[in-house]
Amino acid sequence: MSNQTKILVTGAGGFIGHHLVTYLKEQGYWVRGADIKEPEYEATRADEFEILDLRRWDACLQATRGVDHVYALAADMGGMGFISANHARILYNNGLINFHTIEAARVNGASRYLYTSSACIYPEYLQTDAQVTALKEEDAYPAQPQDAYGWEKLMTERICLHYREEYKIETRIVRFHNIFGPLGTWQGGREKAPAAMCRKVANAKLTGNPIIEIWGDGEQTRSFCYIDDCVEGIHKLMCSSYHEPLNLGQDRLVTINQLADMVAEIAGIRIRKKHIPGPQGVRGRNSDNTRLRAVLGWEPQISLEDGLSRTYNWIETQMRSAKKGLTAAA
Ligand code: NAD
Repeated sequence: MSNQTKILVTGAGGFIGHHLVTYLKEQGYWVRGADIKEPEYEATRADEFEILDLRRWDACLQATRGVDHVYALAADMGGMGFISANHARILYNNGLINFHTIEAARVNGASRYLYTSSACIYPEYLQTDAQVTALKEEDAYPAQPQDAYGWEKLMTERICLHYREEYKIETRIVRFHNIFGPLGTWQGGREKAPAAMCRKVANAKLTGNPIIEIWGDGEQTRSFCYIDDCVEGIHKLMCSSYHEPLNLGQDRLVTINQLADMVAEIAGIRIRKKHIPGPQGVRGRNSDNTRLRAVLGWEPQISLEDGLSRTYNWIETQMRSAKKGLTAAA
């Protein structure tokens, strides 16, 4: 891709979108970001950043004007707590965002369009065991995602496939498996498991109370992929000629209890786990990276320990400065 290529990143005020803008600027592209909000923790490096509600058709036309490539990340989303409690809202908001964004990109003549789907599209019946068989792309059908979030993602995947066939816009579809890292939401109800765990452990360290609450028995399993690998992988996929859905994640399975222990070790404290009722999602989920390696000749490199350590340190620093702010104000 030439670095004269003009790019739109939607959801550029969010966690992955913000990191993606930074990565694309480092590669020399011209980048426009669009979102309903600015990035929370540092300024964007986008050449232009527009505050737009992408549920609206006119906003999507404005966002996609004059760009060659679109990375479509905007979504009303969050961790399990949010996803399992907001089905109607998620279907409505994300349906509008995704229908309008791809159609506006087509009308405005964009040549490539990358859609960020999710491991949440995989059928619930393949994820009932903690020692789950890693999920291959073709496992998506017969479809039975657990939540409306997954159904909407699956439907937008189909839209992308049909737009490519019928309108000749080159669509790419990536299925993320639990992306984490610094500069992501870590409090407020939308945070995901790694950030929530780092916050709980940092809180234990800063208050001296070693009790960490964990939803369920903590034996549910996941794999976690660090943000730097994620943005590199998305860019590689956009530049490739592969148009079917592709997993992007790590394939190392850990339980949530193990995740808690790893973060506690990084923080240098001992914790006591208290298991409480709460939404857990599927029992086990892992990424099969066979196709990722074959298509991109690449797979995520950053270890879970390394990624968690960078994330934990950032969250602990955030909490320390918030505490200092409170003390100063008091
Ligand atoms: P995020 O919530 O941090 O970012 C999404 C952004 O979309 C937010 O900044 C939000 O303000 C914006 N947005 C929401 N409604 C909007 C609207 N009406 N108009 C304009 N912008 C709007 O989430 P993220 O983790 O950065 O995820 C980015 C994409 O990747 C999403 O599509 C998400 O579904 C997908 N994904 C993420 C993960 C993950 O582990 N983080 C996993 C699977 C899929």
